[in-house]
Amino acid sequence: MSSIKSRDDMVHGTEEKNRIEASTLYLVATPIGNLADLSTRALKVLSGVDFIAAEDTRNSAKLLTVFGIRKPLVSYFEHNKRARGEEIIERLEAGESAALITDAGTPAISDPGEDLVRLCAQHGIRVVSVPGCCAAVTALTLSALPTGRFVFEGFLPMQKSDRRKRLSKLQSEERTMIFYEAPHKLQATLDDFLSFFGEDRRISLCRELTKRNEETMRTTVGDAVRYYRDNAPRGEYVLIVEGCPEADLQAGEAWAEMTVTDHVAAYLSEHPDIKKLDAIKAVAKIRGVPRNDVYRAVLEQENGPSE
Ligand code: SAM
Repeated sequence: MSSIKSRDDMVHGTEEKNRIEASTLYLVATPIGNLADLSTRALKVLSGVDFIAAEDTRNSAKLLTVFGIRKPLVSYFEHNKRARGEEIIERLEAGESAALITDAGTPAISDPGEDLVRLCAQHGIRVVSVPGCCAAVTALTLSALPTGRFVFEGFLPMQKSDRRKRLSKLQSEERTMIFYEAPHKLQATLDDFLSFFGEDRRISLCRELTKRNEETMRTTVGDAVRYYRDNAPRGEYVLIVEGCPEADLQAGEAWAEMTVTDHVAAYLSEHPDIKKLDAIKAVAKIRGVPRNDVYRAVLEQENGPSE
């Protein structure tokens, strides 16, 4: 008798595991663009659960219609997640099964799915993941940057001070970094990368992944900034940024030993073409301190302390 399992054996062997269970939340990954990426298991679960919670019910209704799935849909998104989350838990506790889907990709990655999973854990409700597309991992694999160690940063904070704090902490991050970004914010984010990571840091910009106009641009932060000054960003983006190179880390350690004014002087001698005010701005960003503090320190050094 052959010990090699046939495809039928393997599929039937997983049937038990694939049976829809009562009082269970299924996190079902959906395509990030290409509908053919919806897995056989995802289809089975979506067809078998009692109801589906979706981030945007209109969007998800279209997806389900394509696959001939008719199920009651409830909306679950950022602004109703507290009340709706409790309602979903009550239904699960009463014995129903549910699937959670989001607009695209894996639920709980940069979307409110994270809160529903936490709520399930608090109530002792079983959560099963039906894995599939995730824009972050798809982009990372295409980036040609090191994939052995990486850090997922998702969307940067919108508020300027929080954003600056986050980027300042990431300056010495050695692992490859993954960011999500919407097209209308891309240029501002690239400008921030230029200030915090510098001109030469490698970056891969992946847009429209799995779609007709999919594109991966492997370049440097400086060239990406220049490119997008002349070309309007189109589609959703994942930005993969190289971790801090060893040489930059050592330079970072060197400035940590310097006074603010010495740091401005060193920056100016390294970048002889820039104005002093721009050096002050750059140093403030590098050190993660307000620009006015650096400006004041330079003025005091030049003119003596103010009265
Ligand atoms: N849960 C999703 C996942 O697993 O990837 C991510 C949800 S997050 C709200 C949406 C962001 O994912 C977009 O702003 C974009 O940065 C990224 N994204 C989603 N689909 C994409 C695609 N086809 N191409 C590039 N980026 C995409």
